[in-house]
Amino acid sequence: TTSLTNDQLSQWDHDHFFHPSTHLGQFARREMGNRIITSAKGVHITDREGKTSLDAFAGLYCVNVGYGRTEIADAIAAQAHELAYYHSYVGHGTEASITLSRMIAERAPEGMNHVYYGMSGSDANETNVKLVWYYNNVLGRPQKKKIISRWRGYHGSGLVTGSMTGLDLFHKKFDLPLDCVVHTEAPYYFRREDRSMSEAEFSADCASKLEELIQREGPDTIAAFIGEPVLGTGGIVPPPAGYWDAIQAVLKKHDILLIADEVVTGFGRLGTMMGSDHYGLKPDLITIAKGLTSAYAPLSGSIVSDRMWKVLERGTDENGPIGHGWTYSAHPIGAAAGVANLKLLDELNLVNNARDVGAYLNTAMADALGAHANVGEIRGEGMMCAVEFVSDRDDRVFFDPSQKVAPRIVAAMLDRGVIARAMPQGDIIGYAPPFSLTKAQADEIVTATKAAVDEIL
Ligand code: PLP
Repeated sequence: TTSLTNDQLSQWDHDHFFHPSTHLGQFARREMGNRIITSAKGVHITDREGKTSLDAFAGLYCVNVGYGRTEIADAIAAQAHELAYYHSYVGHGTEASITLSRMIAERAPEGMNHVYYGMSGSDANETNVKLVWYYNNVLGRPQKKKIISRWRGYHGSGLVTGSMTGLDLFHKKFDLPLDCVVHTEAPYYFRREDRSMSEAEFSADCASKLEELIQREGPDTIAAFIGEPVLGTGGIVPPPAGYWDAIQAVLKKHDILLIADEVVTGFGRLGTMMGSDHYGLKPDLITIAKGLTSAYAPLSGSIVSDRMWKVLERGTDENGPIGHGWTYSAHPIGAAAGVANLKLLDELNLVNNARDVGAYLNTAMADALGAHANVGEIRGEGMMCAVEFVSDRDDRVFFDPSQKVAPRIVAAMLDRGVIARAMPQGDIIGYAPPFSLTKAQADEIVTATKAAVDEIL
């Protein structure tokens, strides 16, 4: 920490720091507060005013092993001292990046053995789209280029990734989505239009809507489908029964590649190492980021299937080196953080803890709030949970967004020392704590939620 006063830092913040995903006018006019975080340990963060909060969203669902892990900090420091940087172009590597590649391949689904590195989930998904296009060009079908994503999917904030993201906020005034992206139905059972449908019927309906879209666009024009195993930022929505099987059958029929975006679900969040294994996905590409280093350093990756790799390899035999690279691909500090992080996941049995304490959190939340007149649904999987609010439970009527129900509940929770996230679309409160959460801390989260709900509703 610097010796600056809180007022001075705060002034500089409002004057100079362009914050992402922030209402700029309100921030500049100081109609919204700022919060300067100084330190963190375990599941708690502390700010400059000395207030400590239990972070039930692990930053942006990324600090999976918890804060203040000296094993990772030490690995980063050792790497910085020994070799802070060298590039990975034209066959160069470091011990950390090679070891990490092996560790990822060991944890990935069968037949997925090649890792391309980036710095963020967004750039990894940009890479994925480029690889899909390259692949189809090598195969001599240049017209097969469109990407299908789901409404409410979140895949990043770049040009093509912001396009694939299916949330209006990320398109508005940016001239997105680009023409190469088309959206299909979200597997959001709670919000289904026909409420008489069973989960299995709804899944079949999602698959038939996908089929209709493919027919409308022309199967020969569709290159890939991208989806998160569990919808994250769109509302923390696990898929209804049978969804992924039904979707994969359609993709297979039309020779459409599957990109599993596991930026959130990769490396344990669902209580299994990879979300693809959890739901029986057989992807051609997997996007990884957050949980790869638990956000101790920025690092992302695209895991490429052997099947796709063979075509890429042929492409370079025919065309020369692949013209795609970032200066910081496989940055040694990120790679060292990744190796230490994946080791820690195993040594502390954190994936199983995510499964067990996650199940406990979901059950405790349902016990405390399941019968509340304004709770429409409580859902989750592994160490993810969401509570969705409605103004009328029987008729499933949603609150008007101007009432800001979820943001107000989240603010009332913060007053009680617990951080949860008001998800960007709908009155949904999301929880995705570090995997090291204890049952007592899960109880604290539930107690703060219940008290905040009782205060606001
Ligand atoms: N994909 C998913 C599923 C995400 O949740 C996110 C970020 O939240 C991204 C991609 C983008 O990652 P980043 O913010 O690192 O660019």
